[in-house]
Amino acid sequence: MSWESRIQDALQARREAAAFRLRLPNAGGSARWLTQGERRWLNFSGNDYLGLSQHEEIVAAWQQGAARFGVGSGGSGHVTGYSDVHAEFEQQLAQWQGYPRALLFISGFAANQAILAALLQKGDRALADKLSHASLLEAATQSPAQLRRFTHNQPDSLQRLLQSSCDGETLVVTEGVFSMDGDAAPLAEIHQQARDNRAWLLVDDAHGVGVMGEQGRGSCWQQGVRPELLVVTFGKAFGCSGAAVLCDDDTADYLLQFARHLIYSTAMPAAQVCALQASLRCIQQGDALRDKLAANIARFRAGAADLPYQLTSSATAIQPVIVGENQPTLDLAQRLRDSGLWVSAIRPPTVPPGSARLRITLTAAHQPEDIDFLLESLHGCSH
Ligand SMILES: *Cc1c(COP(=O)(O)O)cnc(C)c1O
Repeated sequence: MSWESRIQDALQARREAAAFRLRLPNAGGSARWLTQGERRWLNFSGNDYLGLSQHEEIVAAWQQGAARFGVGSGGSGHVTGYSDVHAEFEQQLAQWQGYPRALLFISGFAANQAILAALLQKGDRALADKLSHASLLEAATQSPAQLRRFTHNQPDSLQRLLQSSCDGETLVVTEGVFSMDGDAAPLAEIHQQARDNRAWLLVDDAHGVGVMGEQGRGSCWQQGVRPELLVVTFGKAFGCSGAAVLCDDDTADYLLQFARHLIYSTAMPAAQVCALQASLRCIQQGDALRDKLAANIARFRAGAADLPYQLTSSATAIQPVIVGENQPTLDLAQRLRDSGLWVSAIRPPTVPPGSARLRITLTAAHQPEDIDFLLESLHGCSH
């Protein structure tokens, strides 16, 4: 074997399984449209659930921030990368979510990796929902702790794992809204079980924050649950990028000592923080956007019920249409693309084998006629 042949073999296996991943560059777009040259597609693939990535005030806040602070933070937060604006935004996040502290990370992936790596030690265990995001499962796998997965959204399955003995600490890990199925976790039950066993709960609410609950506070707020660790990300409803963990004072101080992504990586630019502050204001005052998104979701579900594909129980912006095998899923996505709809096909290993799907995402930027056109096309392509 050689590096070259190992790489070629891996590529060949992916091609043979119709699982080869390609990026298609686009010329830009928005929550509603994607463009390339003269063509444009209705965008049903993004995570910009409220359409904020194009919001004038947020764009202006980033521009003004760059004019004031420049484009780079110049170092890690432990050196010179942490400004008054960062500190102010962390406080705003903490207040919004009702936690003592918030710590900013440059991405949700980094936040999850950093938190799990800093917390989990030998003898500990992480009990994670089977469908948790790759950033969580990978971090838990790489840690010296034991990773056990419980059946998706099944507190009984978690309960059985919690009952087996463990000398170290236990961290239960789940998501508010699952990224590939769009369904919500039963957080109250899961948190109660964790507490009964002196375990902590980490909820990654990447897809719930901004769109669920009063002032867009997310899944936990909506379900009346306050996990010990809450991860919110800014690449989805916030329309930007970055993430934060909400926690108590000691945990925040601990992460500042031991979370390597905070110590050895350049901090988020202050200008981006300015954009995020504007985005947070839009989200807090975003009831009209959330209502519009909810109307689009209801319209889609009503019209999709009689499609010959399986839908999930999702009541969120993520509305998967499960086709099954890879090639038919790719073919369906291509037919939709030919008719002017950009919908992504999601295949294993991102989702379980045999459950390849279209991951349709709806946003507040879509108009009712966009949803109707999507439904007509899905019905037209399905026979
Ligand atoms: C998108 C996502 C992440 C990663 O967040 P980024 O900010 O994009 O790195 C983490 N967890 C979940 C559940 C996600 O959907």
